Amino acid sequence: MIIAKRKPFKEIKESLKNCESVLVAGCGTCVAVCLAGGEKEVGLLSSQLAIASQVEGQPLKIGEVTIERQCDKEFLQELRNKVDDYDAILSLACGVGVQFLSDMYRNKVVLPGVDTSFIGANDEVGYWTERCRMCNQCYLATTGAVCPVTMCPKGLLNGPCSGTRDGMCEVDQEKACAWALIYERLEKTDRLDQIRETMPPRNHSKTGRPAVLAHKSYQRRYTAGE
Ligand code: SF4
Ligand code: SF4
Repeated sequence: MIIAKRKPFKEIKESLKNCESVLVAGCGTCVAVCLAGGEKEVGLLSSQLAIASQVEGQPLKIGEVTIERQCDKEFLQELRNKVDDYDAILSLACGVGVQFLSDMYRNKVVLPGVDTSFIGANDEVGYWTERCRMCNQCYLATTGAVCPVTMCPKGLLNGPCSGTRDGMCEVDQEKACAWALIYERLEKTDRLDQIRETMPPRNHSKTGRPAVLAHKSYQRRYTAGE
């Protein structure tokens, strides 16, 4: 899932300095799970904003809403009767949700309330780790399901480098060397011969941005001229 963290309150306040009203909009999916932008976080931030506006004597009308997903037009439609009542929308969704909101309500000021960090997993309560850099050519079949692109700071496809020591990484000695993990995983699953295969360099043209993807059942619909 997408991992995000809330922006510092001072930064949020600064972004709202010209607004007399704001709709704080949460998203009920990834950002809710990582405790950055779900319904609870919308409530907390709205309360903080209300207290700050009272203390500073600058009235601010605040609305709250949380929809299931801000990266989906169907759910964004739910906001159409609300947005006109506010100068700005402060979105607590990831960067995709913020942009999608702005695409949909183009005359409205849309501001981000979180920093989108990475794609990761919930390793422990309140602790997330990055697991995928979206290289669009997944190598996990040959690396024992350990991602060399993400877990090795050098992104080596044919590791380890000469800096690995006792299974730890030379770049960050607190972290396991990705290639030591790959070795261990392949050994445990009786596929160690795979580590001797040389992987070709990454094809960076596969990660051209901005990326688009049309499911094959819909390709005719999205092909120019059809
Ligand atoms: S190799 Fe790593 S970065 Fe590439 S798709 Fe697989 S998990 Fe993601
Ligand atoms: S020590 Fe391992 S994880 Fe660290 S840079 Fe070298 S190969 Fe990559």
